[in-house]
Amino acid sequence: MPRFNDYRHKKTKSQTHFSWIGLAKMVPAMLLLSLCLSGCRGQNPSAQISDVGFYFDTVVELRLNGTEDQSLIDKCFEKMGQYEALLSRTREGSDVWRINHSAGEPVEVSDDTAALITLAEKYYELSDGAFDITVAPYVAIWDFTDNPGKVPAAASIAAARIHVGFPLLHLDGNTVTLDDPRASIDLGGIAKGYIADRLKEYLVGEGVTSGFINLGGNMLTIGTKPGDVSWNIGIRRPFGEASDVITTVKVNGLSVVTSGPYERYFEKDGKIYHHILDPKNGYPVWNGLASVTILSDSSADGDALSTSCFVLGLDRGMELIESLDGIEALFITDDMQLHYSSGFPISD
Ligand code: AMP
Ligand code: MG
Repeated sequence: MPRFNDYRHKKTKSQTHFSWIGLAKMVPAMLLLSLCLSGCRGQNPSAQISDVGFYFDTVVELRLNGTEDQSLIDKCFEKMGQYEALLSRTREGSDVWRINHSAGEPVEVSDDTAALITLAEKYYELSDGAFDITVAPYVAIWDFTDNPGKVPAAASIAAARIHVGFPLLHLDGNTVTLDDPRASIDLGGIAKGYIADRLKEYLVGEGVTSGFINLGGNMLTIGTKPGDVSWNIGIRRPFGEASDVITTVKVNGLSVVTSGPYERYFEKDGKIYHHILDPKNGYPVWNGLASVTILSDSSADGDALSTSCFVLGLDRGMELIESLDGIEALFITDDMQLHYSSGFPISD
């Protein structure tokens, strides 16, 4: 069973050490698997290939059933590298970096970046501002990827407030303009879902009918497992061990994306500070939720909605989910109660 969020768990408390160690431990296992597969050549459709990599500051894993064509996986990793070079906030020369360093001047961006900004605007509106990619000044101040436990000064967060707000951002075709030279964007709440969708599109176009794309716990399935068996995705107990699955969900071809504070946080003086920020005040959101999992066809939708709903809280988040066709959600409150949307395929 693919374990949803397994790898993210390794990143939680000791993110800075990430998990090159974990990756190193996994590589021999993957090599063993490929050796076995090379011994099994010609046994399609029972063939299976898989591989792990490190992109978007997290471990990614691909598994394809019914093929032995390693070039499909290699191409996916190549694409991930290209998306990272395009969408990273911190990588010099990326589209996002150029937007954030444009000093108020218009910037030409790729079709992918323009599509992501368009999608981000849709979720900004749908979530009534809870999902807002212009939280980047706050993200930079908190720096959860590299922060060993320093709570920023309240004054610096307050000073950033006037540089945050989606209306500061304009997209006209492929031209992006930020009205405020100190405004900036961060696509961390939506990019992995979008990239997973593009990878699936590519793989399906190449004839892949079964597999999954796991981008740091953002899980996008392709078809069913061999033998028409549903994928059984484990949903982690918030703040539990990696192997501690609170429930599972059976899906065929759907995306399963979870947002939660335990994915990136630090603890200081007994208090947890985590990476999902309230655009209104720049502080981590605490509203009684411990995680939100979204089931959807599109992983970009799932990614944006899991972050949106986490910020909105149980009542407003559930209301949003119930208003959308083809989207289901599981909200876990901090008392570890499970709250399902009306069409969620609850496990027996
Ligand atoms: P996710 O893990 O998909 O919930 O995304 C969380 C990431 O999105 C954070 O690490 C930030 O990079 C970014 N982010 C934080 N708060 C927000 C927000 N309110 N709206 C949009 N993106 C956010
Ligand atoms: Mg998200």
